[in-house]
Amino acid sequence: MFTPTRAAALEALADFIPRAGSQYARDRNIDAGPGRDNVSSLSPYLRHRLLTEREVVAAVLEQHRLSSCEKFVQEVMWRNYWKGWLEQNPEVWMRYRRDVDELAQAGETESTAYRDAVTGHSGIDAMDAWARELIETGYLHNHTRMWFASIWIFTLGLPWQLGADFFYRHLLDGDAASNTLSWRWVAGLQTVGKTYLASQSNISRFTEGRFSPEGLATTARALVEDPLPARSALAPPEPSPGGRQWGLLLHEEDLDGPSLLAEHPLVGASGHASTPVTVPVAVAGFARADDRSPLGASEVVREFTRSALLDGVGRAQSPVPREQPRVLADTFSSTVLEWAASEKVDSIVVPFAPVGPVRERIDTLRAVVASEGVTLTTPQRRWDTLAWPHASRGFFPFRERIPKLLAQQGL
Ligand SMILES: Cc1cc2nc3c(=O)[nH]c(=O)nc-3n(C[C@H](O)[C@H](O)[C@H](O)COP(=O)(O)OP(=O)(O)OC[C@H]3O[C@@H](n4cnc5c(N)ncnc54)[C@H](O)[C@@H]3O)c2cc1C
Repeated sequence: MFTPTRAAALEALADFIPRAGSQYARDRNIDAGPGRDNVSSLSPYLRHRLLTEREVVAAVLEQHRLSSCEKFVQEVMWRNYWKGWLEQNPEVWMRYRRDVDELAQAGETESTAYRDAVTGHSGIDAMDAWARELIETGYLHNHTRMWFASIWIFTLGLPWQLGADFFYRHLLDGDAASNTLSWRWVAGLQTVGKTYLASQSNISRFTEGRFSPEGLATTARALVEDPLPARSALAPPEPSPGGRQWGLLLHEEDLDGPSLLAEHPLVGASGHASTPVTVPVAVAGFARADDRSPLGASEVVREFTRSALLDGVGRAQSPVPREQPRVLADTFSSTVLEWAASEKVDSIVVPFAPVGPVRERIDTLRAVVASEGVTLTTPQRRWDTLAWPHASRGFFPFRERIPKLLAQQGL
């Protein structure tokens, strides 16, 4: 269903644009099953930035007035909102990671109820079909994700963290912020006390009668947790490096090097700001989809992520592509240092990575390269820099800012 290249992503975008207006607003909650075209299915591309949010919104606004494609634009902005919120509440991510580790170590992933749910043998026909669809395709419709999470937590009584982990390991668009915080939202942890309860009638209506599961929980009592610490301040954007031989190190959070570098023109070896260089002397990439979970990622996710990375590295090497895009994998930090030394790179530019496994890798790498005298900078997209400060409360105040944020982006 999803070819991991920017060319395929652009084709999918062009195909969807005519449907992004009132048709999307009216039909987006229906899940007619694989082959559906009432939603964009762009999330695997957006998540890895084979397409950027900015260009998707810009392309849609070229053909629709904001008043008619507002719903679609808001959905794209949800992604941005969740990332900005997690960035300011990293403790939520750390607790989630710790909980998954502890549950796996305690043998919860070996329990019969868990095994049945993740192999499509729960006995609830809808859940079983969705588990198989997720495993085979790496994608589920948004409404289906909500039903699945609700039934997992309130009917099957399984830990929400293991459901989130199951999604994260199998979704091509698996995203630390959108996934963890959406599961928390269903469980009543994110909007404290407010849960999402899946019902037979709602599922039957929005699957157009494909499923009508019986015996679902009829109440959904919100889960509780220890109070969260106060919000963390967002890191201030870093200045661009200058006057150096710099290399670009891409990763699965942002695979559109050319548009990122266009936003952050780097000062060339001459050191003159008037001669910005947007072509690095060397480009490499790293992808470790297995970092998503102690149980690793699915083969479908591993393959998609790796191929998307190859595509991203290949495009960033232009106009002088190498025969083989360079992907660094094994002993990560030392491999990066070897690459930097062999390419005579003394400054590494890495796209900013939000809270999640890639950030964890980069934090380790930052300390290692600094001790070898190599600088590492992580330029952030203006799209994120402008929006994240407004993601400190609920989505509704954030939503009010959307027209202004678009205007700041020239849209
Ligand atoms: C329990 C649960 C887990 C989820 N896990 C993820 C995840 O790991 N990664 C992920 O990208 N999305 C996640 N979502 C959000 C949403 O389900 C998917 O983004 C959407 O289904 C992708 O399909 P689409 O591209 O056809 O979306 P469309 O309806 O066409 O929307 C366009 C784009 O907007 C963004 N978007 C839409 N809805 C949401 C949303 N509710 N939250 C955040 N972004 C949104 C996506 O980037 C999407 O591609 C999750 C939702 C739930 C309820």
